Amino acid sequence: MNDTDYMKLALNLAKGTLGQTSPNPVVGAVLVKENQIIGMGAHLKAGEPHAEVHAIRMAGDKAKESTLYVTLEPCSHHGRTPPCSDLVIRTGVRKVFVATTDPNPQVAGTGIERMKKAGIEVEVGMLQQQALELNKAFFYNIQTDLPYVTLKSAASLDGKTATATGESMWITGEEARNDVHQLRHQHDGILVGVNTVIQDNPSLTTRLETGGKNPIRIVLDTHLRTPQNAKVITDFLAPTWIITGAEVDQKRVEQFTEIGIEVIKSEKQQIIIKDLLVTLGKRGITSLFVEGGSEVQGSFLKERAFQQIITYIAPKLIGGKLAPTLFGGQGIEKMAEAVLLNIKQVDMIGSDIRIIAEPK
Ligand code: NDP
Ligand code: ZN
Repeated sequence: MNDTDYMKLALNLAKGTLGQTSPNPVVGAVLVKENQIIGMGAHLKAGEPHAEVHAIRMAGDKAKESTLYVTLEPCSHHGRTPPCSDLVIRTGVRKVFVATTDPNPQVAGTGIERMKKAGIEVEVGMLQQQALELNKAFFYNIQTDLPYVTLKSAASLDGKTATATGESMWITGEEARNDVHQLRHQHDGILVGVNTVIQDNPSLTTRLETGGKNPIRIVLDTHLRTPQNAKVITDFLAPTWIITGAEVDQKRVEQFTEIGIEVIKSEKQQIIIKDLLVTLGKRGITSLFVEGGSEVQGSFLKERAFQQIITYIAPKLIGGKLAPTLFGGQGIEKMAEAVLLNIKQVDMIGSDIRIIAEPK
C-alpha cells in the first residue's frame, strides 16, 4: 500500500457512512506506522467522535510517530467534541495527509495551521476531487445555508414519466428503484407535489434490505388538497411537512396539525421555490431530494434551483402527446435559453440507464 492507497481507504470508510452523519460531513481516517495500519475510523453520527479520534484510540500507544491519512481537515473548534487538531498534536503524529480543507468558516484552514505550527508535516490535496465529491452537499450547504438540491426522475426512453392517464408505477426496474432508496437514505428531505401524493399515494420512505433512514417528507400543496388518508399523513414513519400558500383554510390546517403534521405557510400565495429553500435551510435540511412530478420539476428548472440531476431512463416507450414528460411547466421559447448541463456519470442500473448531471 502506498500513500494514495491509504487515502483511498480513508475515503471508502467515509463513503460507507453517507446518509448517517448529517448535519456533519462524512470523514474517514487511517493511521499508519512502518507500513502497517495501526488504526482507522469514520465519523459515524453527529455528536459522536470524529474519524481521527476513533483511529487514534484504536492505535493506542502506537500512535506516536505515525502518519495520518484523513479525508477532511481535522477540526480546530470546540463543537460537540474537542478539536481533533489538538488531539493529533498531543498524540505525537509525525505527518498528516489531508485530502481537502474544511470550508466550514469555523475551521477553514485553522486546523492545518495549528498542526503545522506544532511542527507536524502536513500535505494537503491528495485525492482532493474525490473528497470534494463525497461531501458536495455538505460543502454547498455550509457555504450557502441552503439545501443541496437533487432533482430525481425516472422516464421511459421517450422521456415520459407516466402514461396519459397518470399511471407511473413502475417505469424503471427493481435495481433502479433500490438505487433510489439508497439516495433517499442519504438525504435530509424528500419533496413532491401534491398531485403525486393524490395520484400515487407514495410513502416516500427508505426501504433498503438493511433498513435505512427516512428523510423528512415535504409536500408542495398551495391549497391543502393533500388527502387526510394519504400514506404520508397516516403512517407516521417520518415527519411530514406540508408547504401551502399564504391563504389556506385555518380549520383544514388544524386537521393536520392536530395529528402532528406540520403545515408551513408561505409568505406569498404562490410557493416560490427559492424562498422555500431558504426556509428549509433554516430548518436544518442540508440536502433535498426532489422526486416530482413533472410540474414540480418544472418549477425547480424555471427557478434554476438545483445542483444535480439524476435521471433514470428505462428501456420502454410510452408515447402520446398527453403523457407527462420529465419537466413540465412552461419551458423556454428559445434554444439559447436552454439550461446547459455537464454529464458527470452514466451507469447501467439493472436494465435502466442512470445519468448524473450538473448545471454548467
Ligand atoms: P406534481 O406532483 O408535480 O404536483 C404539482 C402540484 O403541486 C401543482 O399542481 C400544485 O398544486 C402543487 N404545487 C405547489 N407549489 C408548486 C410549485 N411551486 N411548483 C409546482 N407545483 C406546485 O404534479 P404532476 O401532475 O406534474 O405529476 C404527477 C404525476 O407524475 C403523477 O402521475 C405521478 O405518478 C407522476 N410521477 C412520476 C415520477 C417519475 O419519476 N416517473 C415521479 C413522481 C411523480 P396546487 O396549486 O394545488 O398547490
Ligand atoms: Zn474533529
